[in-house]
Amino acid sequence: MRVRRVPLRKCIACQEQKPKKELIRVVRTPLGEVLIDITGKKSGRGSYLCGNVDCFKLAKKSRALDRALKVAVGEQVYDTLAQEFIRVEDEFRAYQESLPDDEEEDGGETVGR
Ligand SMILES: [Zn+2]
Repeated sequence: MRVRRVPLRKCIACQEQKPKKELIRVVRTPLGEVLIDITGKKSGRGSYLCGNVDCFKLAKKSRALDRALKVAVGEQVYDTLAQEFIRVEDEFRAYQESLPDDEEEDGGETVGR
């Protein structure tokens, strides 16, 4: 049996599981910086948030990044990330669209609802 699975990741803010490419990765680099990683290729400890600003706000409220990254993330960092996300949102969408959309096709697996 070959069912191709969509790699799902959980948004640390709203806890929804989504295909990885719909989520935006936030990484804690080996230097301790907390950054948005659009392409998901930076090294470091990563966590995922939905690609929308509401989840950044929610993460700030619930301090989800602190827990996910096991580091104290200051309020300022959350604010910076939210602003940064707004700045890179178009780029993120473009990146999503550039990804091959082959994941779901032959498995027919439904994602979410
Ligand atoms: Zn979310």
